[in-house]
Amino acid sequence: MVSEKLISAFKTKIEAANTISIVPHLNPDGDAMGSALGLMHALKNLGKKPSVIVPTAFPKFLSWLNGVDEIVVFEENEDQAKSTITESDLLIYLDFNAYKRVGETMEGFIANLQLPSVMIDHHPYPDEIADVMISVTAASSTCELACNVLKLSGWSQYIDSDAAECFYTGIMTDTGSLNYNSSNPDTYRTVADLIEIGIDKDKVHQLLFQSNSFNRMRLLGYVLSEKVTLIPECKVAYLWLTKEELEKYNFRPGDTEGFVNYPLSIEGINASAFFMEKDEQIKCSFRSQGDFPVNKFSELFFNGGGHRNAAGGRSDFDMEGSLKRFLSEFPKFYQDFIKA
Ligand code: 5GP
Ligand code: MN
Repeated sequence: MVSEKLISAFKTKIEAANTISIVPHLNPDGDAMGSALGLMHALKNLGKKPSVIVPTAFPKFLSWLNGVDEIVVFEENEDQAKSTITESDLLIYLDFNAYKRVGETMEGFIANLQLPSVMIDHHPYPDEIADVMISVTAASSTCELACNVLKLSGWSQYIDSDAAECFYTGIMTDTGSLNYNSSNPDTYRTVADLIEIGIDKDKVHQLLFQSNSFNRMRLLGYVLSEKVTLIPECKVAYLWLTKEELEKYNFRPGDTEGFVNYPLSIEGINASAFFMEKDEQIKCSFRSQGDFPVNKFSELFFNGGGHRNAAGGRSDFDMEGSLKRFLSEFPKFYQDFIKA
């Protein structure tokens, strides 16, 4: 999965460092948070002084992860975040591969740093953002990849149960509990190893998937019954939520996680798009099945990217303009895909 040369370059960087800043992408999801905290625990066990700096706040459904109290949120505590990063010997970027994925506030700061750096990520088309680039698109998640990097480095013994729980979390959230991105037997071997280390799997599933607020359930009910439109001739469905609708259901970050996946279970629907008002932009999420590349669609029309079957982006138009753009571009993109 990762060449000996890369592992040796990774080890050299880690061995030369004492203080290490770990940075995942903005609006961190389970994989970003799990890989950052999992690596933090492992590096502590290795005798290092790691800190996790997240660009923006993390969702409440991940707030039980061991180590979250130590996290510095860049957007909320810029001075502390900047001094922690500047004073570190090494930077580790996790679950992203382009500077813009840390968001506007942090991007300029990160891009101008002259510190040794390592990237561990599983998204396609990486930019050269680090001295050591561990980019494996075949990995189900950055958590799976980070586990393997530690193992190949001869450091499996430093993956304790806290680290294992974090890595397991990211694998479960990025694969939809081993539903997608998980046809590779290696993923199951990694999961087996993590369970063997001694995690409470039932507790993790309970906290991740059975701790929804009632408001979130009602919002899901509302969006599925009132806000999904199908375009059967393009095998696509789209759904959208305005700020007012979100406020009505007392929206908290993370509440809409997974909404975009639901239409994929409708017969004859192969792609799904979700638009949601967030700050002054429209945040877009795209999902598909099979060969249909939603990352390409997002890159072309919604300033985004991601994986072939799971991508994100954003639009500077208002909701009406964004939906209009989607409705005019998607059918053409779909036709081109069918013809190719
Ligand atoms: P989500 O819809 O959950 O926000 O994102 C789905 C996937 O696409 C995730 O793997 C995420 O990292 C990636 N992604 C989301 N937004 C962007 C973006 O603006 N650019 C790129 N390159 N990837 C994104
Ligand atoms: Mn990921």
